[in-house]
Amino acid sequence: MRVFKFGGASVKDAESVKNVATILNTNTSKDRLCVVVSAMGKTTNLLEEIAKNYFNKVHTSNQLNQLKEYHFSICKNLFSNNDKFFEELHNVFVELEWILEEEPGMDFSFVYDQIVCLGEILSTKIIAAFLNNTGLNCNWVDARDLIKTDNTYREGKVDWDSTLSCTKEYFTKNSHQLILTQGFIGGTSENFTTTLGREGSDYSAAILAYCLDAKEVLIWKDVPGVLNADPKYFSNTFVLNHLSYQDTIELAYYGATVIHPKTIKPLQNKNIALKVKSFLNPNLEGTLIDGSNTTEHKPSYIVKRNQVVMSIFPKDFSFIIEDNLSEIFKVFSQKQVKINLMQNSAISFSVCINNDENKIQEVIPLLKNNYKVLFNEKLQLITIRYFNEETEISVLKNKEKILEQRSRHTLQVVVKE
Ligand code: ASP
Ligand code: MG
Repeated sequence: MRVFKFGGASVKDAESVKNVATILNTNTSKDRLCVVVSAMGKTTNLLEEIAKNYFNKVHTSNQLNQLKEYHFSICKNLFSNNDKFFEELHNVFVELEWILEEEPGMDFSFVYDQIVCLGEILSTKIIAAFLNNTGLNCNWVDARDLIKTDNTYREGKVDWDSTLSCTKEYFTKNSHQLILTQGFIGGTSENFTTTLGREGSDYSAAILAYCLDAKEVLIWKDVPGVLNADPKYFSNTFVLNHLSYQDTIELAYYGATVIHPKTIKPLQNKNIALKVKSFLNPNLEGTLIDGSNTTEHKPSYIVKRNQVVMSIFPKDFSFIIEDNLSEIFKVFSQKQVKINLMQNSAISFSVCINNDENKIQEVIPLLKNNYKVLFNEKLQLITIRYFNEETEISVLKNKEKILEQRSRHTLQVVVKE
């Protein structure tokens, strides 16, 4: 068994879908293939807008039309006019319209997941129908019946036991060589939809690979592999041909957007290799990520933008002790604020976090009684893995440093934007 994952950019128009079909055609061999697909292009962003407007009781018809037009125009280039698939496509939009006609519930995250999941339902239905029409026999399965989560909407926590048994059962009963499913979405025990967090399709692929004891996972991207830095911000970037799981986790965790950070752990636990390859140039080697330790220690650097440093001081000017830390962490955990970097001194505790206005506003009142809270905004968190003097100087040139942390292999610096 192998697992392939195609992201939104790889299925953004009819040409791209045809390209995916070509890649699948050349890769169907004796191994079974489980294919995980994201929503087409920027569909998830559009569905997010629809979910927000619906929840705030603002009209959604413009975005809804945009969504329909986008998908129908892709399909016009993939199917003949009278293909019976158009009815199936139409039915997905009817399902969405039914949701939008109801009064929204109270929980935005719940509402969000029931709407936003439809991007992946649309893309996979389109691709499955297209593959079957072109003679590549494949079976469509609803990922909500395979990946089971708790009811943390927008950030579903995987229930590994039931996911394992549902997935194994399905793949044992079904004998198709090629099985196609959605990334990003899961289902609760009550059959509501959850999502796994933005860009979560990579994680879906890893979850399924884990459950199926897959030989390898291939993530198809619009870049030639994992690069040592984001070419949008740095020149002279290069492909890292071989990475360890550990290095990849570090890079992804600190903001390299090439792979979703949660993807690696399930693969590492079963020693499943991960390849990142270009869907534009499938013949290129790409990046191999596995458990071997032969990786060269080439410096990589990642910039996480839109950061805030929050400094917390006990109001009574006492030292920061374990009691304070435990109280502060409890607040962060309760409000699901992720700490990207932290540092304590005698009288303060500082955290670098994403500038998420809503979450920050929820955290402040819970700390205000016992602590003075100060902010430093418009910051970036720069992480250099395998730093050396040369990269340190060039990456941090002209930057005003706010916080700095150094370990043997990783240098992290919070700087002004
Ligand atoms: N479609 C989802 C998103 O855009 C999941 C993914 O692409 O991985 O976040
Ligand atoms: Mg995506």
